[in-house]
Amino acid sequence: MTAYQPTLDFARQLDAQDPLRSFRQQFHIPPAPNGDAECIYFCGNSLGLQPRTARAAAEQQFRNWQELAVEGHFRGDTPWLHFHKRVQDAAARLVGARPVEVVVMNNLTTNLHLLLISFYQPTPTRYKVLMEGGAFPSDQYALESQVRLRGLSPDDAIVELTPRPGEHTLRTEDILVKIEELGSSLCTVLMGGINYYTGQVYDMAAITQASHAVGARVGFDLAHAAGNIPLHLHDWDVDFACWCSYKYLNSGPGGVAGAFVHERFADQPELLRLAGWWGYDEEQRFQMKKGFRPMRGAAGWQLANAAILTLAVHEAALAVHEAAGGMAALRRKSELLTGYLEFLIRGLGLPASRLEIITPQDPAQRGCQLSLLVHQGGRNLFEHLMAAGIIGDWREPNVIRLAPVPLYNTFEEVFRAGEVLRNWATSRPATEKEKKVTHV
Ligand SMILES: *Cc1c(COP(=O)(O)O)cnc(C)c1O
Repeated sequence: MTAYQPTLDFARQLDAQDPLRSFRQQFHIPPAPNGDAECIYFCGNSLGLQPRTARAAAEQQFRNWQELAVEGHFRGDTPWLHFHKRVQDAAARLVGARPVEVVVMNNLTTNLHLLLISFYQPTPTRYKVLMEGGAFPSDQYALESQVRLRGLSPDDAIVELTPRPGEHTLRTEDILVKIEELGSSLCTVLMGGINYYTGQVYDMAAITQASHAVGARVGFDLAHAAGNIPLHLHDWDVDFACWCSYKYLNSGPGGVAGAFVHERFADQPELLRLAGWWGYDEEQRFQMKKGFRPMRGAAGWQLANAAILTLAVHEAALAVHEAAGGMAALRRKSELLTGYLEFLIRGLGLPASRLEIITPQDPAQRGCQLSLLVHQGGRNLFEHLMAAGIIGDWREPNVIRLAPVPLYNTFEEVFRAGEVLRNWATSRPATEKEKKVTHV
């Protein structure tokens, strides 16, 4: 680890050495709630900031619509008929896939449902689904309803992994043991790539290997992983995955989402799926014939014609990501940046009874985000941060998530957040009970 120092000079020195420092200028940084010209935005894990190129990209399509109307499908600089393909290569690079394995469409939860139809096909003996306990609610509801759709009971079919008593995150060994234990009853494993609450990165390669060893399918919800950590879905042999684009991919609220289906399934038109005309073999799509014939690969899961306006914004946002050097370059800075925040928080010397970082300490097991479990006065700390112009987010019952993002956050911002935390920590002295507990 770098020998960090808790000083403004040191933070500025890191900023001066940061090869990505100019990328901040490519984003709109919102004003702070306290009236400062710019907030310290640590909420890119929830909604990424707006790239300055986003508006023009959308306006270009408004113009095409205005001037070309229906002809825009075939004419102009960016014919809509093939528009979704414009982001396919970048999306593939982002998740470590071959282009045929990805498609950008719909929203995340929609894609999750579409993929579960294909990759959760229970039989009377193999029908269990394994997921992490406390998964993002949408994933829980999606699975629950998928299980009911097959006439099964969620209580019986869904198995949840929970941390050991006294621990906040899952141990890989426990995940793998559970997969083996479920063995031939296990139909599908669905986990986050990164848990949204704790910020823990799961070992996707090991989970995939273990799942395949017992004959189960495996997929990941990459909402918090796409654009945050390097991914190698193809090489890891993952069966399916989905992600959204409005978090670390800065593509706007409700932005278009991604889906991955491993190449092994690219030429299996008989694989059960929900079908629509946009997934139909495009050579013959407009012959409007009876009988569904899917496109090769992930494109064969498309239902409907593409959302051009949000795709245009996504294309612009991905271009910024790629110009920065993609995941490898971003990850280098991200580890340093989040490591610095961690260093400053640990430097406060707060007792675990007051504040704990529940995100793993090992950089390989986390992305940008740190989740602070605040045992006392959490809401008060959150408001203290907001009043100082620091935007994080609050997750009931007592977690504050802070995510410094390498594309637009600076080391100086991290330092300033550390000072605000120090100010809070010293403004309310520890109680006698807290003092007795060993420090983290
Ligand atoms: C953000 C997030 C979602 C949101 O789903 P949408 O369909 O985009 O509304 C779902 N799952 C996880 C794990 C998330 O982090």
